[in-house]
Amino acid sequence: MSTIDTPKPHVSLDEITALAKRRGFIFPSSEIYGGIGGFFDYGPLGAVLKRNVKDAWWRENVEQRDDVVAFDSSIVMHPRTWEASGHVAAFHDKLVDCRNCKHRFRADHLPSLDKCPDCGMTGTLTEPRNFSLMMQTQVGAMEDADAQAWLRPETAQGIFVNFKNIYQSARKKPPFGVAQIGKSFRNEITPRYFTFRQREFEQAELEYFVPDDGSDLAWFQSWVKARKKWYSDYGVRADRLRFYELSDEERPFYAKAGIDVEYLFPWGWGELESIAHRGTYDLDRHIEFSGKDLQFFDEASKQKYTPILIESSAGMDRTTLTMLIDAYDSETIVEGDKETKRTVLRFHPKIAPVQAGVFPLARNKPELVERAKRIERALRTNLRTQYDEGNVGQLYRRQDEIGTPFCMMVDYQTLDDGTVTVRDRDSMKQDRVSTDALAAYLHERLS
Ligand code: ATP
Repeated sequence: MSTIDTPKPHVSLDEITALAKRRGFIFPSSEIYGGIGGFFDYGPLGAVLKRNVKDAWWRENVEQRDDVVAFDSSIVMHPRTWEASGHVAAFHDKLVDCRNCKHRFRADHLPSLDKCPDCGMTGTLTEPRNFSLMMQTQVGAMEDADAQAWLRPETAQGIFVNFKNIYQSARKKPPFGVAQIGKSFRNEITPRYFTFRQREFEQAELEYFVPDDGSDLAWFQSWVKARKKWYSDYGVRADRLRFYELSDEERPFYAKAGIDVEYLFPWGWGELESIAHRGTYDLDRHIEFSGKDLQFFDEASKQKYTPILIESSAGMDRTTLTMLIDAYDSETIVEGDKETKRTVLRFHPKIAPVQAGVFPLARNKPELVERAKRIERALRTNLRTQYDEGNVGQLYRRQDEIGTPFCMMVDYQTLDDGTVTVRDRDSMKQDRVSTDALAAYLHERLS
């Protein structure tokens, strides 16, 4: 994470956390017991939002391509996997304790090792020592060393160890990719910034294997371009997103190129995704540790080779948080001689948890209620909809705050001529549309 040139954030993390709780996006896990650091639950709207983010990733990176196949591997793998991947030996952070206030820090997050940032005492921080980020578990009934296993800290290794199974069964040859979305676990020393740094989180990883024919850097660039387009297609503001190129010193020795996709969070720039040229390192290591042949055999040339890997690894919780923060807006609106403030989430329509809200003008008029419910049910086939009732001003306020792009109001005119008002979330302009034409109207406006 780099912190240079940080422009002013448009919303504070406290505002986001409060909105997420109030509207049912994200809650601290096990809150009634005081919570547990680094774990979160997605509420009724958050669960849909995150699913939409994952679906958007999956649609673009798997379904829309004929050179990427799907995968779903287990969370617990053979422990040798993590020796081969290098995680057992090297997946640690440097930990520092304050002898005075007993707080713990990641050494690379501290401005100086002389002074504790929490209690302000000087000379109380311990020397940095290694702290493994691997989360341990036990498999089976015996509590001996053989039973020890780990929860995966990344999803990618499941793809590497299955490389041969995948390319043979899917009849693929490089260049081709394997995609997977799944949970990962890291025993982070200081989980913080809401869902940005958690101990349990979801990753979307794409492992793209390319032939050793000099095309690797072009493939790397083409994935960077594809990922840039994805963020822009789903509405992330370009001035809050940057593609930070890793220097030779910042990249692992085997990587020829690397880019961190960073978003301007309320606390500064933070990584959303890493796109890396990983050479042949991962497959070579599993060949060495398993003794199995994971090379690709090219039928045409009768040659065997280890494909070069281009990896895109994106955090789905960080991306969901980004969508929430990026969509946040608060503005003053003038209606007649009255000024009011409104909070609005300007979600991209494909990401918005609710795409169309339908309400009756009055909840005590059965003919309006019945008509509104009927319209909502009809729209449900193709859209994510919500029926709601109550005070009209409050209904709009609530739908603005959860980011619903369009709201339909059923009033007395609807009963006469079959039209409803359609209110646009962003402009707040209202159109009168016939209920027969509503589905087509919304389809056009939402796409
Ligand atoms: P960081 O430097 O922030 O710890 P990283 O470089 O270790 O991240 P990677 O190993 O490259 O992260 O993982 C790929 C992606 O997985 C990250 O870009 C991020 O979006 C997500 N990710 C990693 N660690 C966490 C975490 N603790 N909580 C939520 N998402 C995470």
